[in-house]
Amino acid sequence: MLIAGNWKMFKGSHEARQFATAIRHLPERARGVDVVVCPAFTALEATLAGLGEQSAIRVFAQNVHWELEGAFTGEVSAPMLLELGVKGAIVGHSERRQLFGETDATVRLRAEAALEAGLAVIACVGETEAEREAGEMQHVLERQIAPFPQHERLVVAYEPVWAIGTGRTATPEMAQEAHALIKSLHDAPVLYGGSVKPENAASLLAQPDIDGALVGGASLDGTAFEAICLAASQARA
Ligand code: PEP
Repeated sequence: MLIAGNWKMFKGSHEARQFATAIRHLPERARGVDVVVCPAFTALEATLAGLGEQSAIRVFAQNVHWELEGAFTGEVSAPMLLELGVKGAIVGHSERRQLFGETDATVRLRAEAALEAGLAVIACVGETEAEREAGEMQHVLERQIAPFPQHERLVVAYEPVWAIGTGRTATPEMAQEAHALIKSLHDAPVLYGGSVKPENAASLLAQPDIDGALVGGASLDGTAFEAICLAASQARA
């Protein structure tokens, strides 16, 4: 089970460091759960410092560029992340796809370069509400997943766009159906994302093809994030 907290554009370095210190022992209570946090670029170093050397929590970035260095204003490369002690990166988050012009082609470049450099990758897929209503979910997932390389450090996150930050969650059955489809297309663990909270985590994580969660809003609160990690620990106990 993997529980990853995506802090999005929340928590500056001061707050991130304090929060990281507060949650650093969480994996000792949430047995069997691989815990990841994904701060903003500016808070990566502070988060690592707050966790300290002993914590089993891994720190991932929210994005990564495909070139090692160069004239790419506003981007950050895999070697820059590795130098800090960052262990992985999210690629293809729906907010990147919808708001910043990310495409299947650029997501592929980011995933391949990150894996090549030694980072782990959480590669996000998911249909919009209009696509689901038009019966295109399978087609969209097939198109988004096709570019992902087969790699032991790649994890897929299924995040239906209509469920992200909206408070609307896919039912456990809807999520299970999508996860089973994704697993038939790609041999990788699949996380569910989209308004995961302490109240719905256990029923989602009980589904056989749900291998963890990518958590946005609820990961910003220490108590809620801990409750989700404990639910994950119990789901496969
Ligand atoms: C996310 O950011 O990946 C996410 C799923 O957000 P939320 O949990 O807030 O819906």
